[in-house]
Amino acid sequence: MEDIVEDCRGAFNLGITRPLQWRMIQLKNLLRMLDEKSSIFAAALAKDLRKPNQEALCLEVDYLKNDVRGCINNIGDWTQDNYVEKNILTLLDQTLVHYDPLGVVLIMGAWNYPLQLSLAPLAGAISAGNCVIIKPSELAPETAKAIADLIPQYLDPHCFKVVTGGIPETTELLELRFDYIFFTGSSTVGKIVREAANKHLTPVTLELGGKSPVYICDSADVEKTAKRLVWAKLINLGQTCIAPDYVLCSKAMEQKFISKAQELVKEWYGEDPQKSSNLCRIVNRRNFDRLADILKNTKGTVIGGRMDKDDLFIEPTMITGIDAQDSTMQVELFGPIMPFITVKNKEEAVEFINARDKPLSLYVFTNNKDVSALFKEKTSSGSMVINDAIVHLSVDTLPFGGVGPSGMGSYHGKFTFLTFSHQKSVLVRDFSGFGEMLGASRYPPYSDNKIKTLGFLVKNRKIPGFVKWVPYLSCFLAGGAAAVMYKYMANMYNLDMPDWF
Ligand code: NAD
Repeated sequence: MEDIVEDCRGAFNLGITRPLQWRMIQLKNLLRMLDEKSSIFAAALAKDLRKPNQEALCLEVDYLKNDVRGCINNIGDWTQDNYVEKNILTLLDQTLVHYDPLGVVLIMGAWNYPLQLSLAPLAGAISAGNCVIIKPSELAPETAKAIADLIPQYLDPHCFKVVTGGIPETTELLELRFDYIFFTGSSTVGKIVREAANKHLTPVTLELGGKSPVYICDSADVEKTAKRLVWAKLINLGQTCIAPDYVLCSKAMEQKFISKAQELVKEWYGEDPQKSSNLCRIVNRRNFDRLADILKNTKGTVIGGRMDKDDLFIEPTMITGIDAQDSTMQVELFGPIMPFITVKNKEEAVEFINARDKPLSLYVFTNNKDVSALFKEKTSSGSMVINDAIVHLSVDTLPFGGVGPSGMGSYHGKFTFLTFSHQKSVLVRDFSGFGEMLGASRYPPYSDNKIKTLGFLVKNRKIPGFVKWVPYLSCFLAGGAAAVMYKYMANMYNLDMPDWF
């Protein structure tokens, strides 16, 4: 492990990753790999999770292709120095933010979207000019193998390395010093990662999970709500970090929703959903047993709940008549089980959510703007979607990440680039006599007058919005004045002028 990291560090120190052109080539190669090997990845995902082709493409391979395309399209802008506002003291200077790569970074993926969660951070890390060690999840072994086989064929092998293995390998890796660690997984392992990172004062992003609640207001359109929620719950058979975990609603809404959801499950997955090719499987026995225990211990009324251990299948299941102490409400479900808790009103729902860990996502279904405003203002979650679920993932201008126990840091689009960059502040001081005079008050002998002058020069002022247009307006006026002058001179000296002038 040490040699692997050292090889990367050597490559980084040589400056290989710095040129924009080099980063662009790596990104284009990554895109080419996803294009050329999409069927290999889809087959691996099918073996690991029995992922349907549409989910493998739309939520992993094509999703990634789009993400890499975004990096290719924007890397030129993202890496530009960002010139920032100045005070009077620094009026003649240049003040800018320069984006430095961090160095050698570790990316640890999770098994539920084993391709996307390892390679989306990679694309941003490449854009920012880092060397990367990728550690895909051992619980999706076929996808991990495909990543380990293909990455060295497409990306610079000194700068990008894949380490496979489980807990022993991860533990060994975490002993080493990285310049950044990007971890996706459970909060239990997140704590281990952060503790290991602390030894080297390495900054981390922790993309964790938790119970993402749903509130359905009585004003919501039941059919559309059911369609969107049943889809969001059942992709990857509920094993999605931002899957809607439990529902808060009135008794009347619960009944209407469940009846519509049952119709949809039949329509989409047939009389026997186990025979449907559109549903994944639970990843392994350990997770199956965990879910089976939750179902065995629930005090609620189970709608569905049929299980087949040999096939790692649990049918879409809804549970009603429970309270907050029920087995279904103790941990993140991460499976096709949807408990319902009835609440009297929106305020009670807000109180219920706020009494628990801050979730990764919060979903509110309503036709009433006051309801969405209430949840937006009075709750805290990594992200929030009104009238849908999970689709915020596709908007790469929105940062994706948790808050409190659901994680720290965020990524997607430009946010991934920023995560893997150091925003270095650069001040280029003017060396002219006037520049020196502007700052002369700082030198001894000190006096009250100098204190006042310095206070005036560095005072934080709110600059009126129109000020930023002044340079453009000045140019425009100067252009107009030049034209008038030209015309005047031309008249004076009888010069030929075009008709339009
Ligand atoms: P996990 O935390 O169990 O495992 C993640 C990785 O950590 C594994 O691949 C393993 O190599 C390593 N690991 C496990 N135990 C370890 C130990 N004791 N010491 C060192 N390393 C160890 O997570 P998981 O089961 O792969 O994923 C499920 C969790 O991840 C859920 O909570 C889910 O919500 C969360 N998740 C979050 C996101 C997100 O983007 N926020 C995405 C997917 C999953």
